[in-house]
Amino acid sequence: MPRILVVEDNAINRELLCDWLETQGYAVLSAENLGSARRLLQGQQPDAVLLDVQLGSEDGLSLAAWMRQQPGFSGIPVIAVTAHAMVTEQQRFLQSGCNACISKPIDFKVLERELDKWLAPLQKFPSRV
Ligand code: MN
Repeated sequence: MPRILVVEDNAINRELLCDWLETQGYAVLSAENLGSARRLLQGQQPDAVLLDVQLGSEDGLSLAAWMRQQPGFSGIPVIAVTAHAMVTEQQRFLQSGCNACISKPIDFKVLERELDKWLAPLQKFPSRV
């Protein structure tokens, strides 16, 4: 079963997202800030990351940029979640190392499609799951 790391500082949004992922059958890890996200990543390797871009005063994008520099995490898909739906902002997210961007409030059909897309190689190689 693919494992998803949710990084979101808002408790209600985080629970909503984690609950939905669990009902879809994903294993879920969650973090409320950059520090706990990095700690989780040291111990467990998720198959994808859902990353809130605005983590209070912290810049969520720095996690994507950091992951891209780590050999163990550089290939993990990162999907940015943001209230900024503007195209210029999305380009900035992609340049920071995110693979895709979805806007808040989350349309779960859109999220499902993105997860299917980015996790598709995994489903072809179930030994990695
Ligand atoms: Mn936030």
